[in-house]
Amino acid sequence: MFYGQVVRLLEKRGVSLDAIAEIVYALQKPYHEDLTVGQCRESVEHVLRKREVQHAIITGITLDMMAEEKKLPEPLQTILAIDEPLYGMDEILALGITNVYGSIGLTNFGYLDKRKPLVIGRLNRGSAGVHVFLDDLVAGIAAAASARIAHRLPDGERFEGDV
Ligand code: MG
Repeated sequence: MFYGQVVRLLEKRGVSLDAIAEIVYALQKPYHEDLTVGQCRESVEHVLRKREVQHAIITGITLDMMAEEKKLPEPLQTILAIDEPLYGMDEILALGITNVYGSIGLTNFGYLDKRKPLVIGRLNRGSAGVHVFLDDLVAGIAAAASARIAHRLPDGERFEGDV
């Protein structure tokens, strides 16, 4: 399992688990008034323990880093370097994360992709470096962690041990 590597990779690229937890908290707080940031962080950690999530993160961030180092063959190098708006594979890869938690994950992802709150917006405004995949991966992780809370909290006891 790649949990440790994935957490370090995200941090190296400027994304802490707390920053993702903040997004989850903003999404879910209106529905659960007792929700804490700690619960959100726990949900993020849970999502990051899934193998397919780890694979999506490793794949996307590796492509971002290779594009930054200008090591990709054309035309992919240019597509990522200019963050070609019609490329779309960054969203597709991130959907591999949200799909784990069903349709609530999907609608959360659509919302985050459009609004780009908090760290997602900071990545998207692209200070330095290539973050074509990372912004969508973060939205995917936050959407999945939010969906997991939405599935569990309406009746936490009954759904204990679920997802
Ligand atoms: Mg993107």
